[in-house]
Amino acid sequence: MSYKAGRRAVVVGGGIAGLTAAASLLRAGWQVRVLERAIAFSEVGAGLGITANGRRALAAIGAEAVLARDGTPIRPVGTRLMDGSWLIKLSAAGQPGTQMYGMHRQRLHAALVEAACGAELSTGSQVVDVRPGDTGSPAVVSVQTDQGEDQVEADFLVAADGLRSPTRKALWPDRNVVASGYTSWRAVIAAPGAVSSEFAMTWGPNAEFGALPVGHGEIYWYGYAKLSPGTVFDDERQAARKRFAKWHDNTQALIAATAADRLMRHDVWLLDRPLKSYVRGRTVLIGDAAHPMLPTLGQGANSALEDGVTVGRVVSPTVEDIPAALREVDRQRRRRTQGLVKQSAAMARLGAHLGPGWKQRVRNAAFRRIPPAMAERSGGGFLNWQVPDQV
Ligand SMILES: Cc1cc2nc3c(=O)[nH]c(=O)nc-3n(C[C@H](O)[C@H](O)[C@H](O)COP(=O)(O)OP(=O)(O)OC[C@H]3O[C@@H](n4cnc5c(N)ncnc54)[C@H](O)[C@@H]3O)c2cc1C
Repeated sequence: MSYKAGRRAVVVGGGIAGLTAAASLLRAGWQVRVLERAIAFSEVGAGLGITANGRRALAAIGAEAVLARDGTPIRPVGTRLMDGSWLIKLSAAGQPGTQMYGMHRQRLHAALVEAACGAELSTGSQVVDVRPGDTGSPAVVSVQTDQGEDQVEADFLVAADGLRSPTRKALWPDRNVVASGYTSWRAVIAAPGAVSSEFAMTWGPNAEFGALPVGHGEIYWYGYAKLSPGTVFDDERQAARKRFAKWHDNTQALIAATAADRLMRHDVWLLDRPLKSYVRGRTVLIGDAAHPMLPTLGQGANSALEDGVTVGRVVSPTVEDIPAALREVDRQRRRRTQGLVKQSAAMARLGAHLGPGWKQRVRNAAFRRIPPAMAERSGGGFLNWQVPDQV
């Protein structure tokens, strides 16, 4: 017997992927409940570059206005070396479609909460067990709250529960997260000087540094570097200063202008092997739960926005066969996102993960031979993603 659909979708996780899925599903006509384990919907105090694909996803859920209201338009202008010299310098006109917006993550998150207005947003609700459902039975999650444990049924489940996804652990127990061997210091601070609308990342041996304005007179900087996972420093600011000590002046000035309580650092983790499917029965994984990637392409959150929008576009509340609709989500998203995982790793090999000495010299010599027009055309094809039609 086929399970009778009640048009109720449950989303596990209220991060960027989960809230975008909730907003997209609402627009498709679903009743939506979001289960978030934290006691409040919130994000870390860091920044992001929202690229053209992410902007289209935000437009699809009516949240694009946040970019102009709270963010800053930025033009990528190339890549520097740690002494400040240019490795790649793009032309002043730039390539159409590469413009992005610097955004504070918390402001983006607040806009997504607004876009998901109409969904039942349950905080303090930790999912502790998942039954994925199948054609004849609903998906069921066990939820722990301060009132005790409860069972929640759904026509389908969107697991947007992040890098250490409990859903992935339950349904794909043979996949594990592994340390990338890299870490990232990040901070949002009041801009110490004039804010530039140009973005250039800087590469050095086994490291990358970048800074972008995120609106409201603030600037976001990150320092990404090789480091054994689990390393603890007594003084993170001092450790960041030391790691980037020989880098150009702007790098030093930004770290020096950062108060200790504004600085955070996270090790970067990946999946040991890509998933062969993002779907099990009536459950689909999205965002970091499905495809954690290195931050070197700046596409983790942008692809999470794409995932969330796609779920609502492809799975209609009138569809008879939900597992089949979820397989269509998998078809549209797995190849795309696993491609981004590979591209971010390829970018890392050329840039932030490249070791010192001759490797730097060979790379630099090769890059300097690339004509600027060719550099502008290469590598940005992934930004062309388009929102799928509503089924
Ligand atoms: C150092 C660093 C820099 C980055 N820089 C960029 C960048 O510049 N550009 C970019 O596009 N991306 C970047 N990313 C990637 C981006 O941050 C992630 O890809 C994105 O935040 C993933 O969103 P998500 O919603 O899938 O996961 P998350 O943001 O992790 O959200 C998961 C949510 O699920 C909740 N949850 C977890 N378990 C449960 C449970 N059992 N029950 C209920 N709720 C649960 C969590 O509390 C959380 O709210 C960066 C990542 C890192 C680590």
